[in-house]
Amino acid sequence: MLGAERRAVATRAPDLAELTPGRTGNLSVRRDDHFAVTPTGVAYDRIVTDEVPVVSLDGEQVAGPTAPSSETPMHTAIYREFEPGAIVHTHSPWSSTLAILHEPIPPVHYMLALAGTTVPVADYATYGTEALAKNAVSAMEEADASACLLANHGLLATGEDADAALETAVNVEYTAQIYCQAKAIGDPVELSADEMADVAEKFEGYGQDED
Ligand code: 13P
Ligand code: ZN
Repeated sequence: MLGAERRAVATRAPDLAELTPGRTGNLSVRRDDHFAVTPTGVAYDRIVTDEVPVVSLDGEQVAGPTAPSSETPMHTAIYREFEPGAIVHTHSPWSSTLAILHEPIPPVHYMLALAGTTVPVADYATYGTEALAKNAVSAMEEADASACLLANHGLLATGEDADAALETAVNVEYTAQIYCQAKAIGDPVELSADEMADVAEKFEGYGQDED
């Protein structure tokens, strides 16, 4: 069940190690009303395809011998609300820096258009809870964004597949870093909503068609 999605989770999970310390963070890939998700507390280079848990959009584990990520309620809620193909959660340092300041990331670099205009901050709640899931959904909904910071915790990014979700996470983290650096030496200049909308439109035709 969900062979391709479980394989995607196992093969792309090591990429999380570059974004988040130790065993923190998680990755899931959806097909219809189920998703494959990283097992809780397993090192990313030790995840085996056949052991990747599969969970329904009702939050019930239906396959896999290992327990799913403790953030399964957040993945479930995001899939139900926004229907992305994949979700990445990390404790990336620069995003987490802004998350502990409760500061959203404004449109200071055009690559942020992968996530929206501004990346909002979801209110704090204990990790793995329905309350955190609800806060993340509200923040993304209000900001019309495909990513958010989690207050005093980290980053959540979505995409149409694992590659896209990881790319968004990498670029949000990059923007968080240069925003923090720019703030340390001056006053960052923001792009306008129109300028970000132009970039978002241009992104639709960006890249090489690999088919
Ligand atoms: P899991 O190992 O259970 O996925 O939890 C990591 C995490 O980042 C919780 O917020
Ligand atoms: Zn976390």
